[in-house]
Amino acid sequence: MIYFDNAATTFPKPDCVHCAVMDSLRCFAANPGRAGHRLSARAAEHVFEARESLASFFGGKTERTVFMLNCTHAINFALKGVLRQGDHVIISSLEHNAVLRPLEAMKEAGTITFDVARVEPQSERQTLENVRSLIRPETRLLFMTHVSNVFGTVLPVTALSALAQKHGLLFGLDAAQSAGVYDLDMETLGLDFLCLPGHKGLYGPMGTGALLLSDRVTPRTLIEGGTGSLSLQRKQPAFLPDALESGTLNLSGICGLGAGVSFVRRIGAAAIRSHEEALIRLLREDLSVIPGVETFEQMAGGTLLSLRVAGQAAEETGRLLDRCGFAVRAGYHCAALAHTTYGTADTGTVRVSPSVFSTKNQIKNLSFSLNQIALRKII
Ligand code: PLP
Repeated sequence: MIYFDNAATTFPKPDCVHCAVMDSLRCFAANPGRAGHRLSARAAEHVFEARESLASFFGGKTERTVFMLNCTHAINFALKGVLRQGDHVIISSLEHNAVLRPLEAMKEAGTITFDVARVEPQSERQTLENVRSLIRPETRLLFMTHVSNVFGTVLPVTALSALAQKHGLLFGLDAAQSAGVYDLDMETLGLDFLCLPGHKGLYGPMGTGALLLSDRVTPRTLIEGGTGSLSLQRKQPAFLPDALESGTLNLSGICGLGAGVSFVRRIGAAAIRSHEEALIRLLREDLSVIPGVETFEQMAGGTLLSLRVAGQAAEETGRLLDRCGFAVRAGYHCAALAHTTYGTADTGTVRVSPSVFSTKNQIKNLSFSLNQIALRKII
């Protein structure tokens, strides 16, 4: 099977990640930070190292880097932990349901209001103007995806950050598709929240993610319980990361994530991105000469590509590709707003997302199969 569904989770994982997970399970799988014995201390050391490594990779502070189960958890902890009664939020028209649904739930509960700024893929200036025009006195937060999970569109985060700063707004990013692939630095981008999955571009195991926080925000807790600290106190510790990390941590996942971050550091996010962009360019070129195949991203870059075969539901194309040996995601991609923005709400799309392990040959084989499918030679 050739795996082109890396935007959902990267596969395969690097060997160093396998080894880190196995080592932790074999050699020191004690509960980190919960006991005075040496194995617990060793586990805690590994957790600290992974936390430090994540923090330094993204220009954050170690103690304000909180482990999460995935990007969705990080987003929920950020939004629900920080927004207050009467706050107004602005999001983009490319958001994943991980952003839209928590906000919709808070809106239904009467806590907040939010508006969706239309992203104009061809005009950064218009996108910024669309965001700016929605700012009102009660606006407190600008929260956006960095890269669209459906179309690969990159939002102008530097300019958005400047806009947020100018208007005194908090600024948060859903970095589900950009962490490990695009440059991301808490300081440079003036980020208050950085929500990321560990299991995508950082090549860690599923069940890992992180929330990085600036000094300006300390979210309320959504889950309270044992933290291994201040154990005689009835109230949840107020300091980070303990305040937001109740219960036993995913030790093996965190060790794997630490190894994943080292792997990405060794190769370099820029090198990974240019490899993926080159593959997507090749795919776009190949598909441009196949009648009946429509591709969606018009920008020069892009690390993933959405496409449709004329007269065929995206799920059907996905099923046929599966028969040809390709794993892609087809249909809707948990991002209703993005499909509406690009006019694909009726059909969905087939999404091809390579990783650092994907090759030109694999792309060539995919183009060949898509040609056969478009010609209805594979049904
Ligand atoms: N945001 C975006 C843009 C995504 O693409 C995804 C997952 O694909 C998520 C959030 C949710 O990530 P996770 O599956 O780690 O919760």
